[in-house]
Amino acid sequence: MIQNLHTHTTFCDGKNTPEEMVRAALSLGMDSLGFSGHGPSSAPDEAAMAPEAVPAYRAEVLRLREQYAGKLDLFLGIERDYFFTPDGGEWDYVIGSVHYVQKDGAWLGVDHSPEIFLHSVEQHYGGDFYAFAEDYYRLVGEVPERTGCQIVGHFDLITKFNEGDKLFDTGHPRYMRAALEALDRLAGRDVIFEINTGAMSRGYRSAPYPAPWLLRAMRERKIPICITSDCHDRANLLYAFPQAAELARSCGYREQMVLTCQGFVPEGL
Ligand SMILES: [Zn+2]
Ligand SMILES: [Zn+2]
Repeated sequence: MIQNLHTHTTFCDGKNTPEEMVRAALSLGMDSLGFSGHGPSSAPDEAAMAPEAVPAYRAEVLRLREQYAGKLDLFLGIERDYFFTPDGGEWDYVIGSVHYVQKDGAWLGVDHSPEIFLHSVEQHYGGDFYAFAEDYYRLVGEVPERTGCQIVGHFDLITKFNEGDKLFDTGHPRYMRAALEALDRLAGRDVIFEINTGAMSRGYRSAPYPAPWLLRAMRERKIPICITSDCHDRANLLYAFPQAAELARSCGYREQMVLTCQGFVPEGL
């Protein structure tokens, strides 16, 4: 089954309407597609839907689900930030993600731009990337209880601008400890982690999240995975999916979870 559950549309910060995404998915031969618009948040997030925009998002996805029934299974989801605010109604699934760390009353964006990321670490952590990472992973470890998610979004998003470890050393004991503590906390929570190719399609990384050593640690902890592209442009609906599947296999995974009308089920990779 070819599926992507992490997609954004013009209802938040995506380029295409939901219907354009559906047509692109059909032309790619996909079996199903999930929409995960950025839900309302108390963080100053321009990508997030305003609460009053949510009903129109829901209505449009549900309209398309009717219209394309029998051709493509559509799922109505949402990407809830750690600092999400009420988004109303039932969702087929929830992706829980950390996009901000709050420090000294300031909102520090994790993935907005290399400049914002560097500035945040300089201004609020005295240049200590590991202290930032410790705060980030503390929040990530709380994401399921906070957001009620079934999928944990882009676990090591904090490495988005760190290709080749150019900003900080992901082999540093403090970094590894912070990430593994979050993993251990999440391992018993019955959540799926995504292998996410979004930073690749945007030209920031040459490999998906999470890093291979984290994927192997996830595999050891029996954490299930799904493959997504965090798609903001229909051209990237299946961006680097074969590479993501290969990465999963190389880290010991033999199946991924896919969402069906009966819920999440495992499928061979
Ligand atoms: Zn996200
Ligand atoms: Zn996203």
